[in-house]
Amino acid sequence: MADKQNEVNQVQMRIEHAAQAVARNPAEITLVAVSKTKPIEDLVAAYEAGIRHFGENRAEELAEKAQALQHLTDIHWHFIGHLQSRQSKPVADYAECFHAVDRVKIAERLSQQLQERERTLAVYIEVNISGEENKGGFTGVDWENNAEQRAVLQEAVQTIMALPHLKILGLMTMAPFRAPEAEIRSIFQRLRGLSVWLNQALPTLNAHGLSMGMSGDFEIGIAEGATCVRVGSAIFGGR
Ligand SMILES: *Cc1c(COP(=O)(O)O)cnc(C)c1O
Repeated sequence: MADKQNEVNQVQMRIEHAAQAVARNPAEITLVAVSKTKPIEDLVAAYEAGIRHFGENRAEELAEKAQALQHLTDIHWHFIGHLQSRQSKPVADYAECFHAVDRVKIAERLSQQLQERERTLAVYIEVNISGEENKGGFTGVDWENNAEQRAVLQEAVQTIMALPHLKILGLMTMAPFRAPEAEIRSIFQRLRGLSVWLNQALPTLNAHGLSMGMSGDFEIGIAEGATCVRVGSAIFGGR
């Protein structure tokens, strides 16, 4: 049986404990269950266990799953991966939140498609803090010392802010896989610092959300201020 109640309860308890440890309200942290590559029955099991936010990272797969589960009208779909322009339609059609805006162009394209559909999309701006080449996002590897990196990000965010049908929630990053805890913590702290700086530089932005933390590091993310965690294998098992 594809019962997921234990896994979901475990993750929810870990979120609560991590929040309480730093005197945060767990209710301000959204758990996105990352269901990429998993079959529909696993998503249904997670839904039955209380999950309402699902994360996918392939546009076609998002469309298939959103169509198959359209009778579950309180599901919220998140698109968490890099999005190629020619694959943006399913995101405009189905996603409520896109976590990986990594260039102005994709935001402009989505805004246009959302207009046609009379939909809005919440977005996080992805920033590469760790400097790993296989990670996406705007470069923020040296944002504290590099005015150019700050200027590029600020200008992009300013442009995206002005686009209709998109609502910027905040910033997203990924820490290196299996890095020492201190290194992961530092990356999440630095994303939070960048968010503080950006909101000061753009006072009308008002986007304090932080999408940071996966199965291996979401407790660190919560300790450092995550408002959204993206948890796959701890709920659905390995891929
Ligand atoms: C796959 C993925 C996750 C979930 O990873 P797990 O380690 O399985 O929890 C989170 N965020 C992004 C962007 C991903 O691609």
